[in-house]
Amino acid sequence: MLPAANIGKLGFRRWHERQLVEGHAWFVTGILCAVAVAALLETLSFHNPLPQRLLTLGGAFVAGLVACYAFNAYFRITTRAQRLADRSTCKQCGVYGRYTLVAASSESMGVRCRKCGAEWTIA
Ligand SMILES: [Zn+2]
Repeated sequence: MLPAANIGKLGFRRWHERQLVEGHAWFVTGILCAVAVAALLETLSFHNPLPQRLLTLGGAFVAGLVACYAFNAYFRITTRAQRLADRSTCKQCGVYGRYTLVAASSESMGVRCRKCGAEWTIA
């Protein structure tokens, strides 16, 4: 599914920049959650009472789930941004990312170069 509506509204370059910021925010979230998992497991002790151990294990489990989701979001967002960036250079004049959306479907976008007017399809 292509983000044609957002690219049409923001322009490709601004959309791409926002995707990279969002993707790396997820990456930092994943790193922080992975550190939290390690820290919680480090504090786990069998000398502590059972409820405290369960709370620690539950916290580590939740932080692990959030870390998995965050790394998945990071790879999904940055991969899509890179895939579209690879197709965003005008083959006629070589300008990168300066196009106007002229048609959109769920699987492809028809775009027109703002510099030379060449049209191509991004799928
Ligand atoms: Zn062009």
